[in-house]
Amino acid sequence: MNVIVCIKQVPGKFKVDIDPQSGALIKGGSDNIINPFDQNALEEALRLKEKHGGKVSAVSMGPSQAAESLREAIALGADEAILLSDPAFEGSDTWATAHILSLGIRKMGQPDLIICGRQTIDGETGQVGPELAEMLGIPFVSCVSRIEGVAEGRVKMQRMADEGHHIVEMQLPGAISVVKEINVPRLPSLRGLMQAKKAAITVWNGQELGLDPTRVGSQGSPLRTVRVSRPQRSAQGEMLQGSPESQVDQLIEKLRHSRIL
Ligand SMILES: Cc1cc2nc3c(=O)[nH]c(=O)nc-3n(C[C@H](O)[C@H](O)[C@H](O)COP(=O)(O)OP(=O)(O)OC[C@H]3O[C@@H](n4cnc5c(N)ncnc54)[C@H](O)[C@@H]3O)c2cc1C
Repeated sequence: MNVIVCIKQVPGKFKVDIDPQSGALIKGGSDNIINPFDQNALEEALRLKEKHGGKVSAVSMGPSQAAESLREAIALGADEAILLSDPAFEGSDTWATAHILSLGIRKMGQPDLIICGRQTIDGETGQVGPELAEMLGIPFVSCVSRIEGVAEGRVKMQRMADEGHHIVEMQLPGAISVVKEINVPRLPSLRGLMQAKKAAITVWNGQELGLDPTRVGSQGSPLRTVRVSRPQRSAQGEMLQGSPESQVDQLIEKLRHSRIL
C-alpha cells in the first residue's frame, strides 16, 4: 500500500510573529516543527506500511528550511521525501497550496492513500486536504480517528462527529485527514536519525512541476488575509470574597449581568 503524507512545517513556539503590514506569518528561525496533526498522519501511514507493506512518502510545500521536517519524517520511517519549493510559491493561500501539492503528487505517482492532518496550528483552515482531493478527483474523508481495516480496495474508518462517531468506507485511491486521537506518534530511532542525516531530499520547483506561475503565490490565490491582530487584553482579574456559596452567587450574578447566562 503506497501512502503519501502531506507535511507542513510550522512554528514550534506558542507565540508567533506576524508582519503588521502584510498580516503574514514571519517565517524563519530554528524552532520549527512538523505540524502536530501531520505527525499523527505520518504515524498512521507508517502503521499501514507495517501491516500491509508498500511505501510511505512525505511531501511538503514550503521554503528550503521545510527540508528539516522532511528529514525528520525520514528519521521516523518515511521511505522518501519530496520538497516542493520555489520563490514563486510564497504567499500561496490554501487553494494555491493544494494546486502545488496536487501537481507534486501527480509527479510522484498516484498513491493508494493520501493522509493529511486535520488542520495546521498556524493557518488553521483545514482546507488543504479536501481541496487537494477535489483537484486529484479522489474521495475524501475528514477527521478520521481510527482506521479499522483495508480490504479489496476499500478502507473502513471511524471518523469523529459532534456526538459520537461515524463508521465509513471509502474506495481507494482516496484521501483522508486525521485527528490527534488516532494514535500516539513514535519517536525516531537512532538508526532512523543516522539514515535521515544521509538521506537526499528531492526538491522540485515550479518549472519541474510544469505549473502555470499565475496559478500560485499571491497572484494565484483567490483569498487574501487582509488583517491579522492579537486580541487586546483589557479586563483585569477580580477576586471574589466570602464563603464558597456566596462566591458562587456573586459569580452567577456577574455572569447574568454580562449576559453570558
Ligand atoms: C494567520 C494566518 C491566517 C491565514 N488564514 C488563511 C485563510 O483563512 N484562508 C487561506 O486560504 N489561507 C490562509 N492563510 C494561509 C495559509 O497558511 C496557507 O494557505 C497554508 O499554505 C495552508 O493553509 P493552512 O495552514 O490553513 O493548512 P490546513 O488546510 O489547515 O492544513 C491541513 C493539512 O493539509 C496539509 N498541508 C497544509 N499546508 C501544507 C503544505 N504547505 N505542505 C504540505 N502539506 C500541507 C497538512 O497535512 C495539514 O495538516 C493564513 C495564514 C496565516 C499565517
